[in-house]
Amino acid sequence: MKITGVTAYVLEELLGDKAFGWSQWVTDRRQTALCLISTDEGIEGVGEALSTSGPARIVASIISDSFAPLIMGRDPFDSAVIWDFLYNRSRDQGMKGLPIAALSAIDIALWDIKGKALGLPVYKLMGGAYRNKARVYATGLYEPQHVPSVAEALVAEALGYKKDGFSAMKLKIGYGIDTDMRYVKAVREAIGEDITLMVDANHAYNAAEAVRLAQAMEEYDVYWFEEPVPPEDIDGYLEVKQKSRILITGGECEFTRYGFRELITRRAVDILQPDLCATGGFTEMMKILAMASAWNVAVIPHVWGTSVGLAASLQLFAVLPHFPERRYPAEPFFEYDRSPHPFRDAVTREKFVMRDGYLDIPDRPGLGVTLDMDFVREHATSVKLEKG
Ligand code: CA
Repeated sequence: MKITGVTAYVLEELLGDKAFGWSQWVTDRRQTALCLISTDEGIEGVGEALSTSGPARIVASIISDSFAPLIMGRDPFDSAVIWDFLYNRSRDQGMKGLPIAALSAIDIALWDIKGKALGLPVYKLMGGAYRNKARVYATGLYEPQHVPSVAEALVAEALGYKKDGFSAMKLKIGYGIDTDMRYVKAVREAIGEDITLMVDANHAYNAAEAVRLAQAMEEYDVYWFEEPVPPEDIDGYLEVKQKSRILITGGECEFTRYGFRELITRRAVDILQPDLCATGGFTEMMKILAMASAWNVAVIPHVWGTSVGLAASLQLFAVLPHFPERRYPAEPFFEYDRSPHPFRDAVTREKFVMRDGYLDIPDRPGLGVTLDMDFVREHATSVKLEKG
């Protein structure tokens, strides 16, 4: 089988009055870069690149201008060889960030092709499923704009998730310790004791602040404290982890096995959160998982994006091992972004619906989704490279 075409699609839509704030800025748009790879056998694969901070147009340009010409004519079943080849070609200036997100989208699309060619879901190709459904937690509880009381709006949103059947949800913090404590208290008191509550500071604090906040949050039974300090501050992570009784998590801003090496070997977090669509796709994620299991550091992937990234992340979630294996292992949570996103579910023909707090993991070939080309063509700008 040979790769005959690579198309990168950019989707972007403004959020208008649904813009949402968090510890770093107010997000006023959702955007993503999708990658569609076609082959001489007529099989197509799709992937997505995480695009939270970088313009998706740049990611799409890396896919189509840098990487696409290098993989024309290659066999999708050589995905690991292709990964190392592309990484090496961008290594000098692309060890982290957008080039790796672009590489992730390509790798995910190649695995989709392999699965579709063999008639098997990606999780079968990666060694089989530990589970066929994913217990989800709601990512939301951002700072709504234009509301009279943020705390009241957060409480209403949290109660909505509870009513919808979520057993867990994640609250954005990082606005300053006093404000954070107000939100944590309000949400915890509203949802009661039975719902798991996580918080996420998106690296808003230094270690001393984060320790103070972690200790103050203890009485509200916070399950994990995500990205307390900046991703570069490994020693800060260690300090917070040692002084906090709340689990410390992080990793969505890290890339590749090389980037995760220090987080894992220094045991800087209790739970590692690599993102499939940012850290290098399935090929690289399997290496990160192997390394994490060797150091017995738990992994619960970060998930963010459209239903393409969601479908790919569900395949990964199926193969996520237990940390450690035991008779009654702890079931991981799957991140289910519920924050405003105008085209999250519109890009694929298959839709994902939560039932009783779970998402089913598709057992269809590849990622188990196909792009809704009518929607994509109508809404995306695209850069295409084709070779017969
Ligand atoms: Ca996060």
